[in-house]
Amino acid sequence: MIDIALVGIGKIALDQHVPALKSSDAWNLAATVSRSGKVKGVESHADFDAFLKARPDIRVISLCLPPVPRFDYAEAALRAGRHVMLEKPPGATLSECEKLAELAQSQRLTLYATWHSRAAAMVPAAKEWLADKSLKRLQVTWKEDVRRWHPGQDWIWEPGGLGVFDPGINALSILTEILPDKLHLKNATLEVPENKQGPIAAALDFVHPHGAKVSADFDWRQEDDQIWQIEAVTDAGALLLDEGGGRMFIDGQEHSASAAALSGEYPRLYARMAELLATGACDTDFEPMRHVADAFLLGHRKIVDPFYD
Ligand code: NAP
Repeated sequence: MIDIALVGIGKIALDQHVPALKSSDAWNLAATVSRSGKVKGVESHADFDAFLKARPDIRVISLCLPPVPRFDYAEAALRAGRHVMLEKPPGATLSECEKLAELAQSQRLTLYATWHSRAAAMVPAAKEWLADKSLKRLQVTWKEDVRRWHPGQDWIWEPGGLGVFDPGINALSILTEILPDKLHLKNATLEVPENKQGPIAAALDFVHPHGAKVSADFDWRQEDDQIWQIEAVTDAGALLLDEGGGRMFIDGQEHSASAAALSGEYPRLYARMAELLATGACDTDFEPMRHVADAFLLGHRKIVDPFYD
């Protein structure tokens, strides 16, 4: 088993990383580092530098912090010769992401910039189905209730927290995985509450190399049914990827996942990390982050009603 330390024991660490590691035959959760969070029965540290000095034997570190504080931890871990797994988004800026990728390469260490939504059950099947089709139009609809999913998370509204792009980048990670062609952003509108730094909604239009109309709508004000859908119309039928990539319909008929795909997003991320370590490789695709950066560069800002948790 490979010893690993989890850093930033908050919502995603406790909801997903700890159960994925505890149920794995490949990984041993050997330590945690967090100013306040702990995992029962696991050695805990409050200070990251002290941890790096105290446990040089733990070679792999998984960082579950929000994006702004995460870079300093990732850089320190790589400089201390540790392999690193990053929660999404991989950084607060593209420069941070690229610097970490270069550092990992120069240190001959594994860096894995994870995209948990790419590990959703039906994403590989959607990619395979789209591979030989001609795309006519594609619509992403990612609408959820921020009060339900991010209660009290102030960082998400701050610069570098991404606002509605925190879930929106999950959709973009799927989009950039399943489409055979590269897109670039053409225009965007960002709706920003007058008391916040980050957008609560965004509408994006992309240029597709063969002229398909590709758009995305992200909204955090969805109180009823939560919607995480990608609909693609092609020359040979229509694909609906629903429930964040968990279900796929072709012309209205549901297709089921293979048994391997049913193990869950985070177990698959850790299986991939084990593979990367075994082969000495890195996996650092920053394309979803590039689209978000472009939206912040190009987007029209529309100030909307203030938002209170
Ligand atoms: P969170 O619970 O608000 O924060 C995670 C932990 O990070 C906190 O418990 C905190 O631990 C530490 N932390 C926060 N601010 C810090 C700072 N300035 N310096 C050092 N440590 C700090 O966030 P989360 O929801 O788990 O999200 C973390 C990352 O996972 C984000 O990038 C998010 O996009 C991604 N993610 C989240 C979800 C989700 O459902 N929440 C799903 C998928 C991915 P201590 O205070 O104890 O040190």
